[in-house]
Amino acid sequence: MIDFSLDAEFQTKVDWAREFVRTKVEPLDHLWPEPTAPYDRSLTKARAILKPLQDEVRRQGLWACHLDHELGGPGYGQVKLTYINEILGRTNWGPVVFGCQGPDSGNSEILARFGTPEQKERWLKPLLDGKVYSCFSMTEPTGGADPTLFVCSATQDGDDYVIDGEKWYSSHANLCDFLIVMAVTDPQAPPYERASMFIVPADSPGIEFVRETGVFTEPLGAKGGHPYVRYKGVRVPKTAMLGPRGQGFKVAQSRLGGGRIHHAMRTIGLVQKCLDMMGERAQSRLLRKGPLADIQGVQYDIGDTWIALQQFRLHVLYVAWLVDQGREDDLRLAISGLKVATANISKDVVWRAMHLHGSLGVSNEMPFAHMLMTAAMLGLADGPTEIHRSVVGRLVARQYAPASGPNPSEHLPTRRAEALRTHPDALD
Ligand SMILES: Cc1cc2nc3c(=O)[nH]c(=O)nc-3n(C[C@H](O)[C@H](O)[C@H](O)COP(=O)(O)OP(=O)(O)OC[C@H]3O[C@@H](n4cnc5c(N)ncnc54)[C@H](O)[C@@H]3O)c2cc1C
Repeated sequence: MIDFSLDAEFQTKVDWAREFVRTKVEPLDHLWPEPTAPYDRSLTKARAILKPLQDEVRRQGLWACHLDHELGGPGYGQVKLTYINEILGRTNWGPVVFGCQGPDSGNSEILARFGTPEQKERWLKPLLDGKVYSCFSMTEPTGGADPTLFVCSATQDGDDYVIDGEKWYSSHANLCDFLIVMAVTDPQAPPYERASMFIVPADSPGIEFVRETGVFTEPLGAKGGHPYVRYKGVRVPKTAMLGPRGQGFKVAQSRLGGGRIHHAMRTIGLVQKCLDMMGERAQSRLLRKGPLADIQGVQYDIGDTWIALQQFRLHVLYVAWLVDQGREDDLRLAISGLKVATANISKDVVWRAMHLHGSLGVSNEMPFAHMLMTAAMLGLADGPTEIHRSVVGRLVARQYAPASGPNPSEHLPTRRAEALRTHPDALD
């Protein structure tokens, strides 16, 4: 039986988190609105405010609450995590205050799963403590959605590997302490066994920034969040390999499921925030005969948003429940389906909410530019929507067998003939 209800103790934590985020964390978004601000250690005033907030979250037992017990987390599971993440989805700062921000959360998962005891001690422990930040450096300028096209290489040289190549959209590469880099070690192997993962300290000689690439809400040339990185003869010891040689895709894949579902959880918060803004705007913007809220077309928009949000929230909770039940066989389809739903609802609702605000909506005095960027990111990062739609279609179609005869199984004359064979008395 599916049950999404919460025990009283956890409900108290959720209530605390909602109030804490509203009163203490959302203000940080207004003081330091840049997407990279929560990771920027040069913002000393922000850092001084951040630390006590993180300590408060730890005292409440909600620090890094995506982690299982064996990783030092509370082991709440995905359903409970949905209730926390939907609150954090309202803010840019929330995930850092609660110690569950990407890409660090996904990186901590692969370090825990594939790291050696030494790698865990050196990188995982401080990452979980929030003392260091990380980057996941996989996408290349010449190959994104299809990772078999990657060319960045790691050549073995005695006890070292030497990394050469270019990556872009390496989020936080310019703000982090270490990078997890995918590089081709075995070019002759089958396509999905060519690459390996390496842990590369950010201060390694040979790491260059070709450009400070950012998203379109960040000024061109400014320190953006997703730099274009060149690895020029970057030397790491062979002990820096994360997971087995040639298994880089397997390592990468194992972090993506969690990332996709966590994005979906936070998207509930994003959509709820848009709905809140739509409702408030519709009541406060006055036309000649009354508020916008009295216009039927506006009611359609608000109603459609509310309905879509209810469906989406239950969809996220259902997939979270599947994960908690360990239903591995169902997850590929479920997570790809949720990935598409996440991209679609965020794109539709953010646009709708922005439009309802008229010129104010497109002004730089409202947060819609960042929200639109988030919606666009949700359709690209961790695999473009089109690929996931196709995965869903392929897996669902596979559940069906061809009809036994030349006609579709629901061909009415064929069905009638079969029915008469089952019930010959029907003709009497
Ligand atoms: C904000 C943001 C942050 C990111 N952070 C990181 C990060 O930290 N680390 C990292 O390594 N990468 C990161 N990425 C990169 C992300 O993973 C890639 O954008 C994604 O894999 C798609 O690759 P691409 O952008 O090169 O698109 P392309 O491969 O150029 O594809 C472009 C479009 O072509 C279509 N398409 C491509 N292939 C198919 C197909 N097989 N079937 C149907 N349609 C297809 C889709 O419409 C797709 O959107 C980030 C991206 C964004 C936007």
